Amino acid sequence: MVYIPSHRRFALLLARQPVPAALYTSMGLLLLLCLLLPTDSLAEQERAFMDRMQSMGAAMPDKASRPAGLAVTVLGSGGPMAMTDRASAGYVVYRDRVPRILVDGGGGTFERLGEGRIFDLVRMDTWLFTHLHIDHSAEFPAIVKSMYFLRRGYNKRSALTVIGPDAWGDFPSTSEFVDAYFNKDHGIYRYLHHFMQTIKAGELSFETKDLAYDYERVKTPEKILSRDGMSVSYIPVMHGPRQSKTPAVAYRVDYGGQSITFSGDLNSKSGNLVKLAKGSDMLIYDAALGPAQDFDPPEVFHTPPADIGKAATAAGVKTLVLSHFMPPYVPMKIDRILAAVKAEFSGEVILAKDLMTLSAQGNGASSSGDSPQEPQRKGPMQRFRERMQSP
Ligand SMILES: [Zn+2]
Ligand SMILES: [Zn+2]
Repeated sequence: MVYIPSHRRFALLLARQPVPAALYTSMGLLLLLCLLLPTDSLAEQERAFMDRMQSMGAAMPDKASRPAGLAVTVLGSGGPMAMTDRASAGYVVYRDRVPRILVDGGGGTFERLGEGRIFDLVRMDTWLFTHLHIDHSAEFPAIVKSMYFLRRGYNKRSALTVIGPDAWGDFPSTSEFVDAYFNKDHGIYRYLHHFMQTIKAGELSFETKDLAYDYERVKTPEKILSRDGMSVSYIPVMHGPRQSKTPAVAYRVDYGGQSITFSGDLNSKSGNLVKLAKGSDMLIYDAALGPAQDFDPPEVFHTPPADIGKAATAAGVKTLVLSHFMPPYVPMKIDRILAAVKAEFSGEVILAKDLMTLSAQGNGASSSGDSPQEPQRKGPMQRFRERMQSP
């Protein structure tokens, strides 16, 4: 007697059975469905995470208030100086209401993530640094630790992709910057590797990419990332006189036919930003607007208001968001700055404020339910002047 292994016998038995064509078709469709739907997907992990948060009675992210498609929340609309109502620069980008990208992360943005209930960070996998000035990068380690804590048990395997400019002058490359914090052997926060394993938050890992910063040589946008239908492009920009050797870049995020361009800090002299922002729905301009713009000669580190308007017009953007306000913040002067911008740009202009959420198409809804508008709080200079003027 010929020995036939049991699995082979089963296969032969199956082969002898007449199987209706309809069954084959439905099995085929089932197989196709299984291939299309990844098991253990990040979406499932995210749901599990949200369920756990809810069961613990935590305040939940208000996903319904986030616009569909491509959208952004302003985490920080301020600059390098501490202000009552503005954190330093930082933005969260959503793909279909899910936070996916951080652009910068200056002082105070950590707190804004919590305040805005933006802690569904299971699928946050990309961090884009426009440059490494402190007001754009200081919260990096704090937010990384928070992300890993929040992910405990979820999305353990994915590395965070960190992208930013290459080294120049006094500035390290972005990969050196990440390494300085988190290298396993010599990073200042190297403890986090063991710590995350101890609390079962998975492997702390990063992929980094250093971008060419020379705005005189790189004159065309380059696509640097493509993920889940989202793409990121960049171009170097000029942030300060050449001798300051400040590597800086601008980014553009595209998704579903919508796009947002983030200028980062820059003057308008290289002309590069306009090329990147061409046809963008929204341009978020880190404008460093403040009274100094009225008194100083044309800025070398930032862009004067009229030139911001000109750049938005040349790029043909629909909505211009002015951000990165500098103290002393004098609302009266904002009118003059706005007038200078609007004299050159006829599209929608929005003054950023912290935790304002905007769809790429500009029809914004702030988290507080207000329409996008200038915060009403008075700055110290205004209070001082009012005191001096009052009898
Ligand atoms: Zn800045
Ligand atoms: Zn800067």
